[in-house]
Amino acid sequence: MTSQNKTVKMFVEGQWKNSRGCEETTAVMNPSTGKEIARCPIGTVEDVNEAVASASAALEGWAETPIVERARVMFAYRELIEENFDDLARLLTREHGKTHAEAKAEVQRGLEMVEFACGIPAMIAGQTFPQIARGVDGETNRHPVGVCVGITPYNFPNMVPMWMFPIAITCGNTFVLKPSEKVPLSAIRLIELLVDAGVPKGVVNLVHGGKTVVDALLRHQDVAAISFVGSTTIAKYVYEVGCAHGKRVQSAGGAKNHLIIMPDADLDQSVKALAASAFGCAGQRCMAGSVAVAVGSVGDSLIDGLMSHAASMKVGLTDGNDATEMGPVISGEHRDRVAGYLDSAASSGASVVLDGRNVDAGDSFLLGPSVVDQVTIDMPLWKEEVFGPLLSVVRADSLEQAIEVGKACPFGNGASVFTQSGYVAREFKRHFNAGMIGVNVGVPAPMAWLPFTGWNQSFFGDLHIQGTEGVQFYTRQKMTLTRWFASKDESHVDPVWNSD
Ligand code: NAD
Repeated sequence: MTSQNKTVKMFVEGQWKNSRGCEETTAVMNPSTGKEIARCPIGTVEDVNEAVASASAALEGWAETPIVERARVMFAYRELIEENFDDLARLLTREHGKTHAEAKAEVQRGLEMVEFACGIPAMIAGQTFPQIARGVDGETNRHPVGVCVGITPYNFPNMVPMWMFPIAITCGNTFVLKPSEKVPLSAIRLIELLVDAGVPKGVVNLVHGGKTVVDALLRHQDVAAISFVGSTTIAKYVYEVGCAHGKRVQSAGGAKNHLIIMPDADLDQSVKALAASAFGCAGQRCMAGSVAVAVGSVGDSLIDGLMSHAASMKVGLTDGNDATEMGPVISGEHRDRVAGYLDSAASSGASVVLDGRNVDAGDSFLLGPSVVDQVTIDMPLWKEEVFGPLLSVVRADSLEQAIEVGKACPFGNGASVFTQSGYVAREFKRHFNAGMIGVNVGVPAPMAWLPFTGWNQSFFGDLHIQGTEGVQFYTRQKMTLTRWFASKDESHVDPVWNSD
């Protein structure tokens, strides 16, 4: 995609097509320049019907394709992603604004999902119970669930779609992807490469748009499963509507991740980890550390460390500048929303010690790193997901008090403790109210082989994304009991099994 203002296409029945009957489009922007780079159709119910029909038609043939052949497509896909690695990262930077290093890290995480998918033949095997009763063998097998749907957010345009379709299709399902309308270009490129890897027609489909398209997918009678990643309000809605329409749903929502710094922590290492967690990807990660809880005497030196670290960071434009360490947020509107928290924090009694509005943004959507001290749990800044480069600092007297702060939090994605005490780490790990825990790790985001175990309002559903839970989500089990009779003499068979 190089030409400006070009409206992106959907991918259905192995063809790139215009959205049906859709005149309306939204802008895809380059956050570094503040300029439009493409247009995304808002999509129609007809688009959804066509994509689901395409996925349904391909289902039987693909599900019957041996698992090793399906996995072979993933091996070829893996090679193509490696070959196109840098281009994928640059496209990501262009439509999203993250730095080149962050974009490469994202492509790497997506690639690891494909590597995980290459190993699904070894994971999908069922269980066997020979002689579970006299003369009877039991077994379980995993079957595809059917047409699966993925609805993805703007903040990981490459990795989050890769959380979904490589696993779903290797398990024998067919797929309809609906990427964020703010960043459709990476998803398009990923599908192009998958086609080059040899995926058959109809196995993967792509539609664009927002609420109308999502609603049609959630209600479509031929859709079996929905994977969603996005904000909590929409995640809950998708879960409720999807379940009400009989779908299997895994729905990951927003977050408010706490980083607890104990007085015995290695301060230099902790400051580096905190800054990377809070300001990396301009704070637009569901695993970003957004609240530092400074325990006991550590607070003032932590703030000093963060201030001097932030002052040395190369904050700037990312497209065309690989040295930048922190880039812009997704849109001007989002930048203003994040900046608004600095005003409200000051008026509610907190102290803005580093103000990110003091950067020269030009036409970009840049907002510098911000640190707000003396935040308390009654403030909107603590209660709400900010999703920008703004770190709140809450002061606590003890680990127990820090754990209480976590208990009050409605979200439950990640949390980390910084300490040199094994005892403190163990207490934290056992009792903190979040599903993904780090010990001296700033962003405890699991890699492909581990589940993404958000809790509370950060996840709706049962089986999480990634790891073996991902394989379980995209398969359903069948149990079989088998009994074979001797051709003439059945007298040795247990009468319990021979009674009817
Ligand atoms: P979003 O909820 O605005 O959008 C996500 C998807 O939902 C998009 O595809 C969008 O088109 C669609 N959508 C938006 N409004 C809708 C509506 N009213 N009805 C139906 N569909 C709708 O999220 P975003 O702003 O794109 O992404 C950022 C959010 O995603 C943050 O809250 C972040 O924490 C969350 N996130 C969570 C995880 C996780 O694993 N928990 C990972 C990444 C991002």
